[in-house]
Amino acid sequence: MVGRILKKNRDLKPDTLRDIGEFGLIKRIAGRSGKGNASVLVGIGDDAALIKAGAQHAVPVLVTTDSLVEDIHFRKQFPPEYLGWKSLAVNISDIAAMGGVPRHYLLSLSIPGDLSSEYLDRLCAGMTNAARKYGLSLIGGDTTSSPDRIYISVTVIGVPSKNVLLRKGALPGDAIFVTGTLGDSALGLRILEESGKSLYPSLDRRRQGGGSEPRTTANLVSRLVERHLKPVPRVKEGIFFAESGMVTSMIDISDGLLADLGHICEESMVGGRVWINKVPLSPGFRAMSERYGGIGLALSGGEDYELLFTVAGDDVGRFLDRAGGMKLTRVGEIVKKKGLEITGDDGAMHVTENRGYEHFRV
Ligand code: ADP
Ligand code: MG
Repeated sequence: MVGRILKKNRDLKPDTLRDIGEFGLIKRIAGRSGKGNASVLVGIGDDAALIKAGAQHAVPVLVTTDSLVEDIHFRKQFPPEYLGWKSLAVNISDIAAMGGVPRHYLLSLSIPGDLSSEYLDRLCAGMTNAARKYGLSLIGGDTTSSPDRIYISVTVIGVPSKNVLLRKGALPGDAIFVTGTLGDSALGLRILEESGKSLYPSLDRRRQGGGSEPRTTANLVSRLVERHLKPVPRVKEGIFFAESGMVTSMIDISDGLLADLGHICEESMVGGRVWINKVPLSPGFRAMSERYGGIGLALSGGEDYELLFTVAGDDVGRFLDRAGGMKLTRVGEIVKKKGLEITGDDGAMHVTENRGYEHFRV
């Protein structure tokens, strides 16, 4: 998963992980780990693993794990309730990306001894909130001291719904869809890094206000910052997509639209075309993104935790009829030719590198 706070480390030597990057390293680890046994249906390479449990290998189970590291994924000043929520939410999102139902979680903490117990209480409160909302139980974990930073690692176990949706399965002619709006989280982080602590109280005010808030700058900013600190995993939508029988591949957007579409295309051995003016943007993003990089944040910013999925061209009408009130946007199409293309406002095609966030390469 992504983290984007740490600045470039220019002192690394050329033969370090910067050369192969996070994804090169994962491939390398996978290549050296031997073949999984017969109970592994989907192993390394998707949002979650699908294994079969039980004596007869009769019970399908989804498992996923993601870590959050201080100063890579978060700052210690961030309100710990949000951090707790996010630590669980990003894992739930990976289960959602398989169309699954999250059920249990394990929490591993490595924390410096001088951290206050109040901080930990608030962190756990946020996590428990997310657990309650999505119906998960904490079933274990591990706790160690760490020299300085906070490390939070969560494992979520879930069950598949009627179908399991993989990154593999997209075909030329499929429509590409996303849920929600993109770029808000990346923009929220940039605003947060610039303005710091002063933004947290406005978040609280917004919550107390309730109802639909007016589009003041303060409210728009709060919404963007909240989308970074407290992402909403699309569990209900993921289950609906899996059960529809019309979705051919799916991933959650953690690394950015282009990077994650790149993962779908690579696994499905196809290419993708994104229509830039169709990418769904929130009012806050439209009002405030220009100063911080504009549309690039929506294409490559990451940490949206929206679902990105494909539907066979012939099924699109029927699919949208059934999807009813869900916020879905068709942002492009799957093509035969490998690689990613972006169709710009001018109608011109731009071939792009599908680079979003990648650890060791920032
Ligand atoms: P996501 O963004 O959906 O969490 P990642 O990009 O973190 O996915 O990981 C991609 C795939 O690689 C996943 O299947 C994950 O389980 C696997 N993976 C990541 N790190 C390791 C590792 N150190 N050892 C084995 N598998 C790994
Ligand atoms: Mg994922």
